Amino acid sequence: MEPIRKVCVIGAGTMGAGIAAQVANAGVPVLLLDIVPREGANRSAIAEGAVARMLKADPAPFMSKAAAKLVETGNIEDDLARVAECDWIVEAIIERLDLKQDLYARLEKVRKAGTAVSSNTSTIPLGRLIEGRSEAFVADFLITHFFNPPRYMQLLEMVVGPKSDPATVARVGAFIDRAMGKRVVLAKDTPGFIANRIGSYWLQVAVNAATDLGLAIEEADAIGGKPMGVPKTGIFGLLDLVGIDLMPLLLKSFADTLPKDDPYIATVRPIPLVEKMIAEGYTGRKGKGGFYRINREAGKRKEALDLATGEYRPTIKAEAPRAKLPQLVAMPGKTGDFAWAVLGQVLSYAASLVGTIADDIVAIDDAMKLGYNWKYGPFELIDQLGAKAFAERLASEGRPVPAILATVGDGSFYRVEGGKRRYLGLDGAYHDVVRPDGVLLLEDVKLASKPIMKNGAAALWDIGDGVACFEFTSKMNALDGEMLGLLGKAIAHVATSMKAMVVYNEGGNFSAGANLGLALFAVNIAAWGEIDKLVSGGQQAYKALKYAPFPVVSAPAGLALGGGCEILLHSDAIQAHAESYIGLVECGVGLVPGWGGCGEYIDRWVKSGLLPRGPMPAVAKAFETISTATVAKSAAEAKELLFLRKDDGITMNRDRLLADAKARALALVDGYKPPEPPVFRLPGASGRVALGMAAEGFHKRGLATDYDVVVSDALAGVLTGGDADLVDVVSEEDMLALERAAFMKRVRDPRTMARVETMLTTGKPLRN
Ligand code: NAD
Repeated sequence: MEPIRKVCVIGAGTMGAGIAAQVANAGVPVLLLDIVPREGANRSAIAEGAVARMLKADPAPFMSKAAAKLVETGNIEDDLARVAECDWIVEAIIERLDLKQDLYARLEKVRKAGTAVSSNTSTIPLGRLIEGRSEAFVADFLITHFFNPPRYMQLLEMVVGPKSDPATVARVGAFIDRAMGKRVVLAKDTPGFIANRIGSYWLQVAVNAATDLGLAIEEADAIGGKPMGVPKTGIFGLLDLVGIDLMPLLLKSFADTLPKDDPYIATVRPIPLVEKMIAEGYTGRKGKGGFYRINREAGKRKEALDLATGEYRPTIKAEAPRAKLPQLVAMPGKTGDFAWAVLGQVLSYAASLVGTIADDIVAIDDAMKLGYNWKYGPFELIDQLGAKAFAERLASEGRPVPAILATVGDGSFYRVEGGKRRYLGLDGAYHDVVRPDGVLLLEDVKLASKPIMKNGAAALWDIGDGVACFEFTSKMNALDGEMLGLLGKAIAHVATSMKAMVVYNEGGNFSAGANLGLALFAVNIAAWGEIDKLVSGGQQAYKALKYAPFPVVSAPAGLALGGGCEILLHSDAIQAHAESYIGLVECGVGLVPGWGGCGEYIDRWVKSGLLPRGPMPAVAKAFETISTATVAKSAAEAKELLFLRKDDGITMNRDRLLADAKARALALVDGYKPPEPPVFRLPGASGRVALGMAAEGFHKRGLATDYDVVVSDALAGVLTGGDADLVDVVSEEDMLALERAAFMKRVRDPRTMARVETMLTTGKPLRN
């Protein structure tokens, strides 16, 4: 298959700009075009402005400044012919059939044969888009529906026409999957495809039910949030986020295009309060406020809208009911009524659409999990309710029971057989959930096998071909003595019976570091010996990892901070998910890296060949990054900061991370030799003074607090080698001893504990 070497994105609005950025994040050049503005001399001002805005946006659409340089801008009057340079054209202009069709007619004349063309439309059927186009154009055309924001949402719905060329589809699909990191879900050519069809129905049903039952929006979000596996934003919070004004547009578009007997039509009803909100500019977070708002006149008070009166009032606390779904929908009163109103309607709607909007239940579940961040898909939720009980309740209420619910009977939509997850197909038989080539998930390994060893904080798995996977399993993947204990045993096991080890897990975050709660507890009972043991135990365990007689590859995704980052620094190689946020953040809580991070990080700078000679440049770089607790906001940034080495790998698609890490580990097996211990040449006391002056400068400018200066000095003491003289060499052991001493001194300072306590209770740093 020919790779895609260059992409053109037409339409530089919210979606087009974000899609172009993600192509650039994949390292592929992209041409971003928009219309010529009516005013002004700069004919490419719209696309240029979009790139400029993205460079300032937070969360950032670009993974690095280098990526932004891969985007070229232009306009469709002067530059359209340049689509001939591209292998794929993505159309992301406004949602109007006539404009899209006009553009395709123009593209037909200038694109080179075989260049794929896809639309990012949310609602227009493929059949309409290709009206009037040549056979060749139709063969190269498909719909690629990204979700907003394109960098961060993993779902891509792909719609393939009956005449789309399978080779074109495969080429674009492979690029979106491997290079852009999305999970491609095949959808049928129906309005709103999968996620928005069910997702917007869900929102509408929930708003109707909350209104009818007289629930406070906080109550509705508490019931319809966590117990159903819906993100914290809940229902009303999500509406505020996407924009309340968007709902009527979406609903109207569905009402216009869906068959008249579709249950969707009956749920769409004018809600006067919502109409009034939109008219008055209360469109959500982008407007004056939404269902929730921060009242700045009342001291930034959090307020919620009362659905009955239409007035804002201070928010109330609503506890999420702690019940499993079958009990939840059976609860007497409003709680159970609301839960059933939502689940009964939404899940039966989803069940009625299998075969219509997607070929199977897996596609629907995937779309809702990745497109709306639901923890469980609709069919997983029905399994939790019990498919039979669910169907019986629908029937007892005289509501239609979707055919697939009759098929599943008293079984479940998913089951595990022979260590494999299987799903119920439309044919009434169970089929294996098939992963694409090159996708390996620990989740699947777990279904098929038992861990080689495990305790309460970690587990070791056999992932095939002689490779072991060391998994953190503690709460939030926090690192503690128990984890370190199992790491030691795991290393011994792999050394004698396997070839290589990958450190990887499928939690939301690789690890945000050591268990600070435990540390705080130990400090409060003055268990200094225990803390010292944890520090030296960690140093020994990480050294054992580094010098193990087999290759170790760490594969982070999400946060890898503090001790989590130090695991990476002690690995032979790193295969990072593109969305990895890596940093040595100990100074933020008044500590210094204590598990070998200081020496390892200096060593990376020394060996990078990027710095002038002499002991100071590497130390200064390490000081700059660690003293400010800098966190790389992507794997690409982690390379710039040298948390990742030049030849460490980056995987764009989260689903492919484990397989990539395993392949990398296997590639290191032949002739593997553990690294030589580094010898440090450090600047000693004079270097410490120089770093101290830098810290003092920050302090004078109000950028560092009093205690920051103390902590920086402790860090400077370690990084410069303590009392080392320029002629001395500092061994790895010496560095570890310096780290340990500095750590133990800082941990006894009440100002450090105040920082730790604040971090634990608020999740934010204390600037004392
Ligand atoms: P937008 O309004 O933010 O941007 C549209 C851009 O297209 C504007 O910059 C406009 O100047 C430009 N444009 C208009 N006509 C053009 C033409 N003839 N040639 C070139 N450029 C033209 O819109 P958006 O939200 O980015 O949506 C774009 C497409 O993506 C739509 O089809 C929409 O349905 C779809 N979509 C949007 C979202 C979303 O959340 N916003 C999500 C998925 C899909």
